[in-house]
Amino acid sequence: MENKKELRNWLDEFNLDHPLVIAGPCSAETEEQVVKIAKQLKDSDVSVLRAGIWKPRTRPGNFEGVGALGLKWMKTAKEETGLLTTTEVANPNHVELALENDVDILWIGARTTVSPFIIQEIADALKGTNKTVLVKNPVNPDLSLWLGAVERLYTADIKNLGVIHRGFSAYEKTKYRNNPEWQIPIDLQNRFPDLPLILDPSHIAGRRDIIFDLCQTALDLNYDGLMVETHHDPDNAWSDAAQQITPATLIQFMKDLKIRKEISESVDFQNKLNNLRAQIDVADNHLIDLLAKRMRISDEIGKVKKDQNVSVLQTKRWNEILGNMVLEGEQVGLSEEFILRLFKAVHQESINHQEKVMKAK
Ligand code: PEP
Ligand code: MN
Repeated sequence: MENKKELRNWLDEFNLDHPLVIAGPCSAETEEQVVKIAKQLKDSDVSVLRAGIWKPRTRPGNFEGVGALGLKWMKTAKEETGLLTTTEVANPNHVELALENDVDILWIGARTTVSPFIIQEIADALKGTNKTVLVKNPVNPDLSLWLGAVERLYTADIKNLGVIHRGFSAYEKTKYRNNPEWQIPIDLQNRFPDLPLILDPSHIAGRRDIIFDLCQTALDLNYDGLMVETHHDPDNAWSDAAQQITPATLIQFMKDLKIRKEISESVDFQNKLNNLRAQIDVADNHLIDLLAKRMRISDEIGKVKKDQNVSVLQTKRWNEILGNMVLEGEQVGLSEEFILRLFKAVHQESINHQEKVMKAK
């Protein structure tokens, strides 16, 4: 697949002067609930109502969705509010039922994107329709798997496509339910600038207090839209209660979020930016020189260790460096997360250098 303007035709048809907003409950629970939320979202920046009908739950025994019955409720909500609708499909049977019930946009969930077999079955089931399909990132941080799913749909002639960034699961818990790993969607955006990119802050956050910030970050990174879980009574939602916000909160967020433009014609802005960028380039070159110097020292250490037949990895020394650097970093406003990532990468490169020295004849 190459980048093509046609990828965003469906989005341009909305003719919006703000990002596309998709909102609605994690799960459709009752007809009253779906219609009530839809009515609260109507007359706002929201264009599309979301609700999960078939819910993929990590562990059994939780609410698994109302099933096809919910499709009728979404149809009623559409008739009563004019909002378009979207739901998750995870197999060809879901696709068939969603098509029969006029769901406007289909999304593919994170647990489905990981399976090329199922994606292919869904793509085949959609062949010949002109549905818009949004593909969530796979649960694991793998850009090719994500792109692979998009390509399977594209090859089945589904040209109205978009991607949803919902974060990536990790074994170690962080402040996020799913780590954003912003670099992955940024790489994807670089390769396919016309493939609409939508943020799902709800599944990244897992909690409602950081949703606004995530949305603002996405707008700062030129995302095309937001999909936000919204419930009239979030605390009593049947699934994902902690991360849902009320329609009123979302509407307020849309007022408070700063929508950035990609460029500015202002000469003053261009001058300031060019000047700062020149400084960044100089700093980056210093960084490269310093890293090269560090590796040359590392090579020397490798030689000294080799002479005495001492192992490359010195865990105690390494833990001391890490601890010190986290403290140093803190004093100059660098986060622990960043320092750990940076120094682990630096350490790995040092090990590679020393290994090379050790193995040299
Ligand atoms: C959802 O959107 O409710 C959902 C289950 O999402 P994900 O596939 O991102 O977990
Ligand atoms: Mn959910």
